[in-house]
Amino acid sequence: MIIRVGHLYPEYLNIYADRGNIAVFERRAAARGHELRVAPVSIGTPLEPGSHDLVYVGGGQDREQAMIAPDLAGHGEALRDAVAGGAALLAVCGGYQLLGRGYRGRDGSWLAGAALFPHETYAGETRMIGDVLLESTLAEEPARTIAGFENHAGRTVLDPGAEPLGRVVSGYGNDGTSGYEGCRVGRALGTYLHGPLLPRNPWLADLLLSWALAHATGDEPEPLEQLADELEHEAHLVAAARARERGGRPAR
Ligand code: GLN
Repeated sequence: MIIRVGHLYPEYLNIYADRGNIAVFERRAAARGHELRVAPVSIGTPLEPGSHDLVYVGGGQDREQAMIAPDLAGHGEALRDAVAGGAALLAVCGGYQLLGRGYRGRDGSWLAGAALFPHETYAGETRMIGDVLLESTLAEEPARTIAGFENHAGRTVLDPGAEPLGRVVSGYGNDGTSGYEGCRVGRALGTYLHGPLLPRNPWLADLLLSWALAHATGDEPEPLEQLADELEHEAHLVAAARARERGGRPAR
């Protein structure tokens, strides 16, 4: 199958090698005989709901977020329709923040978001930096662990009843107090976890790919054939141990 990917603002939102997540999707799809067709969606690029099986957006500094926010907010309806239509989506950090209703900067400025995710973010005085370990709360993969790295001033507050991505085992997560990280709406996942995220969490890449394939074929999602993933599992264990050891505590 051909999996059509829309990569939002690749030249603005790509810190901590977030673009590496696309490389993981590409390699893991190819290992099962599928081909990824990645189309950049930048400022001024139209976004047709249904034209992508998988949408991806990375993280970025406040400055870059401010440059793309008006354009992204303009895609709000198309993104909500795309996800309601079964498209898969992964949003990281700055992209995750702007797929909520908006981001209040430390200077009080408000960046309106695309309102796909039921949350709002406000920048705090301190940055939340470090290794993170989560326990997934996804029905498809309950209690599986997710390991990554976070660096954000933003505190994201989920609406009551909103579904997170996982429970924080070690780290700050959405706001450093709720004990949860990320957000899920249908086949759309948002998270603060950089790294990039997917090389050390291959099961999450496969879950998103299975949703993208289901969108491409119109069938129900099917688990993908298992890959060896020795290196990936090793990387996960190392990242998880580091998070347990020092996640969620200000760097000494
Ligand atoms: N600029 C946002 C914040 O500081 C997002 C940072 C990021 O993408 N790592 O919270």
